[in-house]
Amino acid sequence: MEIKSICPECKKVQTIHVETEDFLKWRKGLYIQAAFPYLGPSEREALMTGYCDTCWDVLFGFEDFEEEFANV
Ligand SMILES: [Zn+2]
Repeated sequence: MEIKSICPECKKVQTIHVETEDFLKWRKGLYIQAAFPYLGPSEREALMTGYCDTCWDVLFGFEDFEEEFANV
């Protein structure tokens, strides 16, 4: 099946392909890593929160912070 996830921050639409069976297992409470071993971390993140890679980095990453800090 195809899951469309819209980033709440930048409204970018991501399409993630998963097995319907795996999706149902996940909805029943299986850990996302166990349900979708074939998805990358950013795709799992998109499924859980909707945030795209870019916004995830901005909101929760520390790369920008470190950069800013280094420039001071
Ligand atoms: Zn985004």
